[in-house]
Amino acid sequence: MIDLTLNNGVTLPAVGLGVFQSSPEDTAAAVETALRLGYRHIDTAAAYGNERQVGEGLRASGVDRDDVFLETKVWPSDYGYEKTLHAFEKATGKLGVDTLDLLILHQPVPDRFELVVDAYRALEKLYADGRVRAIGVSNFMPHHLEKLLASASVVPAVNQVELHPYFTQPAVQAANAQHGILTQAWSPIGGITFYPGWGDKRVSVMQDPTIVEIAGQHGRSPAQVMLRWGIQQGRSVIPKSTNPERIAQNFDVFDFSLSAEELARIDALDTGVRGGPDPDVPRDAFFDRVIDEA
Ligand code: NAP
Repeated sequence: MIDLTLNNGVTLPAVGLGVFQSSPEDTAAAVETALRLGYRHIDTAAAYGNERQVGEGLRASGVDRDDVFLETKVWPSDYGYEKTLHAFEKATGKLGVDTLDLLILHQPVPDRFELVVDAYRALEKLYADGRVRAIGVSNFMPHHLEKLLASASVVPAVNQVELHPYFTQPAVQAANAQHGILTQAWSPIGGITFYPGWGDKRVSVMQDPTIVEIAGQHGRSPAQVMLRWGIQQGRSVIPKSTNPERIAQNFDVFDFSLSAEELARIDALDTGVRGGPDPDVPRDAFFDRVIDEA
């Protein structure tokens, strides 16, 4: 296992388990399996509707809560100073924990940025009160970061963004690094390029000839190569799986390494085209989504 250190000295395991689109039925088992296999970092979100099952899996695993880095996200409909303080209570109530290791704002909502500023102020208060060990953001582009930093007193510890070989966001990574913000990759094995039901014009990075070739040379899977590429470049990666073999495979990435040339070949696959939603396009539908009470 490899640990990363955040800008406030808190450490987190470089490989965590993601649970976006993990059904509530599957989530507890996936979390329990992952923790039994040695994972110590879980990434969930209020909007995933499975925080309760993450807590169930944690307790079923027998692993001490203090040994697990628990990360969740506040959804825009809960942005605002008081609402975001309450979102923390909802999240911890569902997870069955008193504190969080990392709480992040899920989206930048550029057209209602005053709400983002108020929500972030609530994160700062939770941080000052010791309720969360670190705070951060997700899907923030460099100009969103600049705007937030103009009023923030705590620099975000993490910016979680779409990042896989077909979309590497060099400008975002550079801005994060410049501010001491850890880049955390969502869809680190390119899930957004192949998960079902998202349109058929996408090309799966799992089947990319360069990735497949490098994987073959190392006797590893394409997913393992992409995860290794991420952690060797200092990123936090949070692959999602509900399948026990794949959960195990995604954690078995600490005993091989890619050469500088292989890393560069993977970097060169960037298309500059995102698979997920553009964080600058306003989405009123975000605010229609009501997050349940605990
Ligand atoms: P991902 O982790 O890159 O890929 C997940 C997909 O890959 C699933 O369909 C999974 O199916 C499959 N898979 C897992 N391991 C595999 C392996 N070894 N070989 C082949 N297929 C494999 O994509 P993601 O779920 O989009 O991203 C990961 C996490 O990032 C999410 O779960 C979530 O925590 C976070 N995320 C955050 C945002 C955000 O806006 N902040 C957006 C998206 C995701 P099986 O389950 O069947 O294995």
